[in-house]
Amino acid sequence: MVTIAGQAVHRQLAIGRLWYLSKTHPELLRAQAEDTDAELRAFRAAKEEVVGRLHELYRESVPKVGELLAHTFEIHAMMVEDEAYTNMVESMIAGEKATAAYAVAATGRHYAQMLEQMEDPYFRSRSEDIREITDRLTDMLLRNRSEVKLAKPVILMAENLAPGETMQLDHSRILGIVTHYGSENSHAAILARTMNLPAITGVAIRDEWDGREAVLDGENGLLIVDPDEKTLAVYREKILARAKEEEELRSLLPLPAETKSGVHVPLLANVGSAADAAAAAEKGAEGIGLLRTEFLCLAGTEYPSEEQQTETYRSVLATMQGKPVTIRTFDLGADKRASYLDWPEETNPDLGFRAIRISLAEEGPFRAQLRAILRASAYGDVRVLYPMISAEWEIRRIDEIFREERRNLLEQGVSVGDVKQGIMIETPAAAVVCDRLAPYVNFFSIGTNDLTQYLLAADRRNPYVAPYYDTHHEAVMRTIEAVVKTAHEHGVTVGVCGELAADVTVTQTLLRMGVDDLSMAPNSLLKVKRSVRECE
Ligand code: PEP
Ligand code: MG
Repeated sequence: MVTIAGQAVHRQLAIGRLWYLSKTHPELLRAQAEDTDAELRAFRAAKEEVVGRLHELYRESVPKVGELLAHTFEIHAMMVEDEAYTNMVESMIAGEKATAAYAVAATGRHYAQMLEQMEDPYFRSRSEDIREITDRLTDMLLRNRSEVKLAKPVILMAENLAPGETMQLDHSRILGIVTHYGSENSHAAILARTMNLPAITGVAIRDEWDGREAVLDGENGLLIVDPDEKTLAVYREKILARAKEEEELRSLLPLPAETKSGVHVPLLANVGSAADAAAAAEKGAEGIGLLRTEFLCLAGTEYPSEEQQTETYRSVLATMQGKPVTIRTFDLGADKRASYLDWPEETNPDLGFRAIRISLAEEGPFRAQLRAILRASAYGDVRVLYPMISAEWEIRRIDEIFREERRNLLEQGVSVGDVKQGIMIETPAAAVVCDRLAPYVNFFSIGTNDLTQYLLAADRRNPYVAPYYDTHHEAVMRTIEAVVKTAHEHGVTVGVCGELAADVTVTQTLLRMGVDDLSMAPNSLLKVKRSVRECE
């Protein structure tokens, strides 16, 4: 038995077999095929199998991440079946007597390089897709399948998981996540919490653990490989106790989120997809406080269209049945990089081209998103939230654009609802000048994840400065208190939507400061409701 200490990401427990998700593929050497016909048959069979699997992945993903994201698998299937691509692979096999695996790898490399050199960022981004389908085909040909059918759910080990990859995990096959790189406040970690997957990070992964039994203790940030019977018994007991606690929490579902003195505190959910909204509704969310729309951009090959977005927002509204839905405009950048955007390498991505800065620089996609939000607003209570505001001119310009788009839609006879506008308070600048920003908006939403990193100059994704990323730091608390006070003086409501909203050790403090609502991962709603009900 070995116990490795890491950092807790999501405080849940799991027992199961470890499964190593290796992203490296063996370098394919140029080998002379002995039987060209056999290689051609192998390529055609692999192609058929990969296309079948991609269609299957598409069908499996729709209920999990929604039509928009799942569509990527269909695009990949089309690419595998592309005539020019197939001809090139087959002529290498037939003409140059290459093995099928080599021909696929070489053709993939050729297309990827060609696309990378193109001017248009859209085509450049497609090189990633070419690499992905090439990997699938070579894995299939070499039977080194990265995506095996798992007989039983497993604990996934990986060096690193990007937000897009985390989102695509099959929940029913994953018991938990162990990564080497990452941190508690990265977006991949936030997604793991939203999906309610036990997770730890900071563990130096060893591939020889693949297939071994393990305990993932997300509470204490531990990975125990080859646990002995005594340890297993202790953890089985803990898992049972957890299940019992969850059962008790479920009994709070019909009760109001009210303090002992009768103050109602709306408890809202943070979600990244229509599927998450269903989990939020199940846990009794009184609305969506934060729809992280940028996740709609991460798995695709281009910005989601206005129609696709309208559909997604409408489906979240339908799930929430009349409850308010706060749609945050794309918060791309930093660790949320969409492959099709033409970004230069940044020295400090968190201080770089992010969120509203991208939206104001690329007005086309921003206007399309606002139109989608406005169109959806005819079907429910929609609010729009702008991320990363740091200056008054930004909100003034946003307000102009918003009004223009609203007017245009009305002129075209499109019905739109009364959409309230709000801003994230997540830069120290916004917190300091929030009195100047207040006249433009109806609400503030404090993003404590970023606010903490910027106030304390401690990168939220860097495990080496984790001790400096102190979410309870007096600077953070005083800033929240000051923002609430100023906002209320200007008739603006204030919610907290960072991870601090789910921290029950500060519920009482936040309510005492006058915070109007709290928004969190769906899985934390009942725990926070219990805490609110215990407040005076
Ligand atoms: C935040 O910064 O607190 C926030 C809610 O936004 P995100 O975590 O998506 O950056
Ligand atoms: Mg943020």
